[in-house]
Amino acid sequence: MDNITTLKEQLQQKGYKFTTQRRATLDAIVENEGKHMTPEEIYEQVKKKYPEIGLATIYRTLQLLEEMDVIYRLDFDDGKTRYELNHHNEDHQHHHLICIKCGKVIEVKEDFLERLERLVEEDYGFDITDHMLKFFGYCSECRNSQNENE
Ligand SMILES: [Zn+2]
Ligand SMILES: [Zn+2]
Ligand SMILES: [Zn+2]
Repeated sequence: MDNITTLKEQLQQKGYKFTTQRRATLDAIVENEGKHMTPEEIYEQVKKKYPEIGLATIYRTLQLLEEMDVIYRLDFDDGKTRYELNHHNEDHQHHHLICIKCGKVIEVKEDFLERLERLVEEDYGFDITDHMLKFFGYCSECRNSQNENE
């Protein structure tokens, strides 16, 4: 696994050990790609294989993985912190559609903002290095069930 090898090297370079809890935490995130898990959900996954690892350790490990740029933190404005894998082949973080009814999160593959970035740079003389975007609304399933109720 690429991510695992990279992390191992990164940790070693900075003098950290690739401990069981670090490996287990990263494994849980890799195995649940696209799920945008909270620390508690990651803990539930890790606990299945390693019941001795506690939630506090998971929090600390996530913090470290974030500092090492292996994962990044997401905020979908629902009061929860979530994490997902940092794909270094992506120019920047992809965008998300967040259903305000069922809480489903859909990843948007397209990025339409290059043109907007160029306009902003011209109009405001601002050198844009990155942007973040979240869409809130109703997913197709919730839309359908809404229409049925009407
Ligand atoms: Zn929904
Ligand atoms: Zn995502
Ligand atoms: Zn974008």
